Amino acid sequence: MHNPLEVTIHDKIFVPFISAEKLQEKIQELAAQLNRDYAGKQPLFIAILNGSFMFAADVFRQITIEAEICFIRLSSYTGTASTGQVITAIGLDVPLSNRPVIILEDIVDTGKTLSEFLPQIQLQQPSSVAVATLLHKPDATRFPVPIQYCCFSIANKFVLGYGLDYNGLGRNLPGLYQLKVE
Ligand code: 5GP
Repeated sequence: MHNPLEVTIHDKIFVPFISAEKLQEKIQELAAQLNRDYAGKQPLFIAILNGSFMFAADVFRQITIEAEICFIRLSSYTGTASTGQVITAIGLDVPLSNRPVIILEDIVDTGKTLSEFLPQIQLQQPSSVAVATLLHKPDATRFPVPIQYCCFSIANKFVLGYGLDYNGLGRNLPGLYQLKVE
């Protein structure tokens, strides 16, 4: 495993923030909680790509109850004046009606993405919807969304690694990194 003490991505230097071991510890706790809360309910996990691919894989491999997972991408475009910004889910081809849904997200920052996506999910009338996020930046909230499961609340600073990128790079770092303060 590559675990550098300092890494340059594009024009910026990043330093270790949350180690791969710490991430795995929390993910284990999260999965154990989900196994308890959803026993016998056959939940459907919806992982939001790209950023959540590592998190989703690590959570899901520790889910021991019956469960399904699907992977979607959200793309947003500007609709008409009345609809404003519209977000579409690509790959959401599993019926959600009457099923417990757990959304796996890498990071909730302003909350905009989920505040637009959650109402779309509700349209399909799942029996319940929960958000499980690896990271949450409470100080960045502009669109409050309910978060039922959160591994780490972090300061309002840019992070990368463990699936999260900076302009496409850095996703393959096993732990999380943050900008170096010069
Ligand atoms: P929101 O819609 O909550 O403002 O933002 C959610 C999305 O913004 C995340 O899924 C992620 O793609 C991106 N994002 C927000 N903060 C960060 C960050 O610190 N690092 C990276 N790499 N992406 C972030």
